[in-house]
Amino acid sequence: MPFDTMITQTQNQNLNVAPTEVKPPIVVVMGHVDHGKTTILDAIRETEVAEGEAGGITQSIGAYETVHNGHKITFIDTPGHEAFFAMREHGVKVADVALLVVAADDGVRPQTEEVIKHILATKVPFIVVINKIDKSGAAVDKVKKELSEKGVLIEEWGGQVPVALVSARDKKGISELLDLILLVAEMEELKYDPAKTGEGYVIESHFDAKKGVVATIIVTDGVLRSGDLIVCGTSFGSIKMMEDDAGQVIKEVFPSKPVRVVGLAETTPMIGEKCAVVSSASTAEAIVVEHKKKHEEFLERIKIEPSGQPRVLTIVIKAAALGCLEALVSVLKQIKSDRVGLKLLKCDVGDIGQADVKKAETSGAKIVGFRVKAGKETLNYADQRGIEIKTFDIIYDFVEGVKIFMSRLLDPEVVKNEIGKIEILAVFKTEKTRMIVGGKIFSGKLKKGLKFEIQRKGALIGSGKITGLQKEKEPQDEVREGNEAGLQIESGVAVEVGDVLVGFDEENNTFSPFCRLT
Ligand code: GDP
Repeated sequence: MPFDTMITQTQNQNLNVAPTEVKPPIVVVMGHVDHGKTTILDAIRETEVAEGEAGGITQSIGAYETVHNGHKITFIDTPGHEAFFAMREHGVKVADVALLVVAADDGVRPQTEEVIKHILATKVPFIVVINKIDKSGAAVDKVKKELSEKGVLIEEWGGQVPVALVSARDKKGISELLDLILLVAEMEELKYDPAKTGEGYVIESHFDAKKGVVATIIVTDGVLRSGDLIVCGTSFGSIKMMEDDAGQVIKEVFPSKPVRVVGLAETTPMIGEKCAVVSSASTAEAIVVEHKKKHEEFLERIKIEPSGQPRVLTIVIKAAALGCLEALVSVLKQIKSDRVGLKLLKCDVGDIGQADVKKAETSGAKIVGFRVKAGKETLNYADQRGIEIKTFDIIYDFVEGVKIFMSRLLDPEVVKNEIGKIEILAVFKTEKTRMIVGGKIFSGKLKKGLKFEIQRKGALIGSGKITGLQKEKEPQDEVREGNEAGLQIESGVAVEVGDVLVGFDEENNTFSPFCRLT
């Protein structure tokens, strides 16, 4: 039975009843690194606390709730980016509104573009937040133009996307931004059904030595209650305790409140995993089995195999969520090279552990992680076995990292750069491989120590090295075009009058063996 059907069947209310209550918006903040996401989240939290509308000292549970003009708003404050990305796998938008943060002095950057693609694909309503407008290099119009070039058309230019101008540092424009969020949310007519049992999504989870699995869940519909039996992906249990972002123990949670839940067992649920209340342990177990099967089938389906290239890079991929894996595999498949192929030995979700290192060791694979960690012990373990581990947070960097591993499998290509040419006018002395010759440099320059090729009547007949150089009988390190020079050379071929020596230096090119990624 499909997961969603099971969940629906366990809900103890009539689904024909339309949702009635207004649901506060859940907001995710995204944008390029250093464009001010954290500062904006802090500014909002501090402004509202200062206004006395939200009380208590907030703790970091991956999201917080604030109140603006009497209306609640929930902000996801873990790397919002990551949570949002992981949500995609379920095709659900936990976020009702996204903020696309762009620094006014830096404009659209690679991560901004990545975020724009996600936002446009999921069709989540969003607001462009142009931050750092206090900076002297701020160029608001330039940012707007860059955004329009990436398909983001703002209201002012006839589009639908509102823009907020903000200085998170000076806390300017924050209140207007919150007004705008509430306006966008109002237009979306966000509702929930108070008669339903609770459901939501995991936005953060970890294992606590004392409490066991601790997960932050944002309730998106219904009401979640202490004691409820819930399933989150492959993890389930009765809720033993719920705590809000102010550290208060609570018994009931309404949408869109983030809540830290203790009581899940077995595995730590993944970010983006759907949670729902179920009526019995047997239903919960059946859902977990179904989920595990789905995960395994999915991992079976994603394969990368080389296509006959002479060399092959084997990799193990670990990522924060199945949705990430899918995206990573699809971009890796776009890497085109005739010389190095790529083989996926294993991919899975979760942090990198010793089992991954053991697996990599069987085929000399590299381990690449995406938004996951490798603990100190794992790193030592890998180090002892000569297994390389690299972790990344941005898709672009991940792909570049894999490409560098691929390039390293190739012998560096030696590139010859022509430095100068001389026509031989006289041969003074020849003994075995050593000779003294003279001629006129007609292109570039010649230097002591330079290697050369010998051309006779246009054909390449040998090579050698300049061991000594003279101009007007004086030793020189280099002699330029237009001058006559005396050369002491070493060569396996006897140079003759009329030959041309072409001096060159060599460069080890750590080139890219790839066709451009599209
Ligand atoms: P994030 O990586 O997107 O979370 O960016 P941060 O919030 O960490 O901000 C990166 C840097 O920009 C920090 O040094 C902030 O102090 C600075 N910053 C953030 N907002 C502003 C702003 O409005 N004006 C100025 N001048 N600096 C800012």
